[in-house]
Amino acid sequence: MKALVFNGPRDIRYETYADPELRSANSAILKVKSCSICGSDLHMYHGAHIGKTEYTADAPKFCCGHEFVGEVVEAGADVHGFKVGEMVLAAGGTGCGTCQKCLSGDVWKCRKSTAFGLSPDLQGGQAEFVNVPNADKTLYPMDGLTTEQALLLTDGMATAYFGLTRAEPKPGGTVAVVGLGPIGIIAVELAFLLGAAKVFAIDPVKSRRDMAANLGAIALAPSADMVAQIMDATDGAGAQSVFEASGAKGAINSVLPIVARQGNASFIGIPEPDDVLPLPLIMFKNVTVRGGICDVQNMWPHLVPLVQSGRIKSEGLFSHQFDLSEGAEAYRLFDSRDDGVIKLRIDVD
Ligand SMILES: [Zn+2]
Ligand SMILES: [Zn+2]
Repeated sequence: MKALVFNGPRDIRYETYADPELRSANSAILKVKSCSICGSDLHMYHGAHIGKTEYTADAPKFCCGHEFVGEVVEAGADVHGFKVGEMVLAAGGTGCGTCQKCLSGDVWKCRKSTAFGLSPDLQGGQAEFVNVPNADKTLYPMDGLTTEQALLLTDGMATAYFGLTRAEPKPGGTVAVVGLGPIGIIAVELAFLLGAAKVFAIDPVKSRRDMAANLGAIALAPSADMVAQIMDATDGAGAQSVFEASGAKGAINSVLPIVARQGNASFIGIPEPDDVLPLPLIMFKNVTVRGGICDVQNMWPHLVPLVQSGRIKSEGLFSHQFDLSEGAEAYRLFDSRDDGVIKLRIDVD
């Protein structure tokens, strides 16, 4: 098959790769219809880190991609929820499918839980075909969803909801979203849906700030004045709920100065190993800090009905479309943030 394959930093190639085989009786093979690139793929692209994984030039090759939708073309004997021919979306990661945690549905407590397409441990779906282990707990039917809605539910929208709700937004409250990639933009929409009265949206890229402003947010560029601007606009209190959706050092560092006393700060951007938070600000402002990787499957019961009923619109996020063979260019553009790029759709057939 053809796939987008990691060959080293800034070297994603469209090339021939071994066809996936059913890894276990609870696995399914998907023929991928569309896929996308996530901000966390850029840590790989830059040759940085994700956890203990280092993306050096001599790191082993693997198929990239943890955001994909497609058709079930083969299902193992222990797959009961999905049939060949069904159109599905897949969570961006999964567990082993055989341990006690996985069998009880708590896939993300599995000690072997991992994302697709960020290491050779679990081949990704920026490819013509992908093996999905633990299929019953990793796939979701695409019924009533567009391809683009389904792609957002594989990771970005779920992570936006996860990260935002862990900052505990309250009806009538004040939210700040730091980093306006697709996750941050969706978080702005969700913050209003959950009742926020005021949402600050912070990003250096003007086209991204404009998208947030169109959703009703107060858009700010990171600057020396930013903390003062937010304090002025909140009677000196700061934002009760701050959601960091970027992972960039500057974004991480801006969170604790703008959070209110007894507020909540939530981090989902992938940090570098040397990123730290200032403990004195956490202590003396009494801030609750959370960080984590989204358990995508557990967000679907909240989000899918809101998407199907049109309450979540997530409009205008897909700015560009590519074919799989143009994957290297798709990565380059997504990384550059040029041309108003926000989210890409890569069609496989
Ligand atoms: Zn992701
Ligand atoms: Zn497991």
